[in-house]
Amino acid sequence: MFPALETEVKQESLPDPYEDFMYHHLQYYGYFKGHRGSLPTSATHQHVWKNNPRYLLSGSFGERQGMVPDPLQKEKLLYSLMLSSPLLKSRQLLHDEFGEVSPCLREPRDLFTFFSSSGPLQAPRWPIECEVIKENLHHIEWVPPQPEYFYQPTGNEKLPEIVGEEKGTVVFQLDSVPTGGSYFTSSRVGGKRGIIKELAVTLQGPEDKTLLFESRFESGNLQKAVRVDTYEYELTLRTDLYTNKHTQWFYFRVQNTRKDATYRFTIVNLLKPKSLYTIGMKPLMYSQLDAKTHNIGWRREGNEIRYYKNNRDDGQQAFYCLTWTIQFPHDQDTCFFAHFYPYTYTDLQCYLLSVANNPVQSRFCKLRTLCRSLAGNTVYLLTITNPSRTPQEAAAKKAVVLSARVHPGESNGSWIMKGFLDFILSNSPDAQLLRDIFVFKVVPMLNPDGVIVGNYRCSLAGRDLNRHYKTILKESFPCIWYTRNMIKRLLEEREVLLYCDFHGHSRKNNIFLYGCNNNDRKYWLHERVFPLMLSKNAPDKFSFHSCNFKVQKCKEGTGRVVMWRMGILNSYTMESTFGGSTLGNKRDTHFTTEDLKSLGYHVCDTLLDFCDPDRTKFMQCLTELKELLQQEIHKKFNELGQDMDLEGSWSDICLSDIESSTSGSDSSLSDGLPVHLLNVADELNQKKKMYKKKKKKLLQTRKQRNEQYQKNNWMQELKLTEDALSFQERAGFASSTLQKQPTFFRNSENASSSAMRNEKPRLNESRLHGRDKGTSLDPSKMPSLILTKNKERMQTEKPRSTVSCSPKRSTNSSQEPAPDMKSHWSRNRYPATKRGRAAMTVYPSLHIYTYP
Ligand SMILES: [Zn+2]
Repeated sequence: MFPALETEVKQESLPDPYEDFMYHHLQYYGYFKGHRGSLPTSATHQHVWKNNPRYLLSGSFGERQGMVPDPLQKEKLLYSLMLSSPLLKSRQLLHDEFGEVSPCLREPRDLFTFFSSSGPLQAPRWPIECEVIKENLHHIEWVPPQPEYFYQPTGNEKLPEIVGEEKGTVVFQLDSVPTGGSYFTSSRVGGKRGIIKELAVTLQGPEDKTLLFESRFESGNLQKAVRVDTYEYELTLRTDLYTNKHTQWFYFRVQNTRKDATYRFTIVNLLKPKSLYTIGMKPLMYSQLDAKTHNIGWRREGNEIRYYKNNRDDGQQAFYCLTWTIQFPHDQDTCFFAHFYPYTYTDLQCYLLSVANNPVQSRFCKLRTLCRSLAGNTVYLLTITNPSRTPQEAAAKKAVVLSARVHPGESNGSWIMKGFLDFILSNSPDAQLLRDIFVFKVVPMLNPDGVIVGNYRCSLAGRDLNRHYKTILKESFPCIWYTRNMIKRLLEEREVLLYCDFHGHSRKNNIFLYGCNNNDRKYWLHERVFPLMLSKNAPDKFSFHSCNFKVQKCKEGTGRVVMWRMGILNSYTMESTFGGSTLGNKRDTHFTTEDLKSLGYHVCDTLLDFCDPDRTKFMQCLTELKELLQQEIHKKFNELGQDMDLEGSWSDICLSDIESSTSGSDSSLSDGLPVHLLNVADELNQKKKMYKKKKKKLLQTRKQRNEQYQKNNWMQELKLTEDALSFQERAGFASSTLQKQPTFFRNSENASSSAMRNEKPRLNESRLHGRDKGTSLDPSKMPSLILTKNKERMQTEKPRSTVSCSPKRSTNSSQEPAPDMKSHWSRNRYPATKRGRAAMTVYPSLHIYTYP
């Protein structure tokens, strides 16, 4: 039996070309180590692993179960294989306590732990400090039948003065919440051990109208509620764990409501001076009774909405308040409030479970574990592509990488992602075509820990992951380290046509993209074509005018910039508002989950336009972009009172000179070392100080020479701070042996993070002052505009040091479809008449100047 299998091992390709492709593709990623031919059938695996209750059986394995005639015989076969096969002999086999071989495999590697209908979901792991209630929460999905308009201020809104707990009664308060100064040590399913205390007040009888608050559930983050009047409450949000910052997202529950009363809620510790609540955004409310009886879900509610500065600041930090009033629809109801439609880790797992159990979808969507988060939650990676007919066809496919929820409080990203997945996994001809020509790599939730604990921006390292894409601290930032590594490998394998990371935006309405200016003359303005096309496909949601393509120094660590520097020309951050639209038919209305999901579809739709073998649309967009830019430049010159005399060379103007920065987006204050490593950095810095003191002596005694020697060592050590920390983190996080220690060294955060950025500041950065805020078109903010030509710029600027700017591409241009793709199109799987793809479409003129 075994020699027969040996023969199989030597066979290079498999009868099913798709299986063969997936096999080689995944093997390339290091997911398989052994030859598949040497492994027993999946069904055999299943039987053995079934004996291990910890293993979650996979749906795809289960499908083949019928092929196995006798499980016992198979088990024996496996046993004999394990003994004789050199590939299976070692770590797979479990020995019992008597040293005898037991025919039992170890728990499979993470890669194989996906779902089945028979297996439970992987319960979320929480930091051990966090109390979690046992109830499972579920919200129905619902789309309001009428548009939900922005709140129109009357001018009579009350501005409640914050009185605090001295004059009120604390009716809910979390205790032992980890804040700045502490750091994550370990995690556990269900969070803190022991009995979960009742935090809400005990009602004195049926007449007691006190609201009962709760937030100890996935994505919940209320820290404290103070009752300051019969129907009035002051609320404090929990900061991101292990930080003192980032209050923005909120999600909590109230019970014991009264129908005929006007309640007022005021959140008192928000940190951003500006908010969409000042321009009409309303909070979201969910009534459990309405959901049960009328099938109504989350809806925009609230009156007397105001966003204002807190009168009680502590002298160090300015706080802002959000206040609103509400009338609950029912007596004795359970209601929820949220900043945006929640989408939890469990929601994602339920969705992925349905995909894994769908016999059709699971054929072209492979679910894998990318890595584990700090708390040990699975970060999922989906590979979506259709079976290819030949290996050549498989190899010709380009890749598209999409991700979401690096910022956990931006649940917008999950809804766009859901819309994308719904469409790409459907049997629509467009979806099939896309799966024919692309390999989609999707990381639907980059920061599951943050989502679970209800953070707004950070991971459990107390840091903003979207400032750390260049990190070498694999153990501290596993989610992004593995994402970058996956993309790096993908780029070695094939061209990545598009990278897009989905976010939420708290100060601007609409949906828009941040990209990266391309300096290569050959591909000039090409990075703007996809966003322009998207704006044409979703004109009442997507604003091209709000897009920005400037690469700022402070954004060097973002996914968008790092992937662009790795060679992905079309590398974007998609920002979608927490509010709504100011465009077209949707003007002045809030976005629903359906609106966001539609954007996921529009991304797919635009991809097809972008790759259409008929280049008419592409070229038309390029022409339009040039015209727009020319107008913009004319305008700038007029503002400066200069004549524009550039003739045909105007296109050499450096684009970043006429663009504003993206600092209107959510800037991050958490981009240093992970909090648990701050004390290590401190030690190294102390040594540095000691060395500096000793340096003052001039004589070179033997002792001094020794010191010099030691100094060199220290210098080496400091130079390699990150490496040292990297080692430390491997010794620390990996083995969970970290001891809690007070951290008192803070400045090293910035020092070390800037050391990580090995580029000089961009020379033109200082020429435009006052660009940090407002739009690029504001003349008052651009008094000394100097337009530099690319040539000059190239001479003065340091070349990008680490990675090449020019995207890796095949012999075809990036936008030219591969020959295989052309054959797909010509196969008429996508009739040109359906949407007039081949025909020239007349696009509506850009709404760039109609934006308010
Ligand atoms: Zn974000």
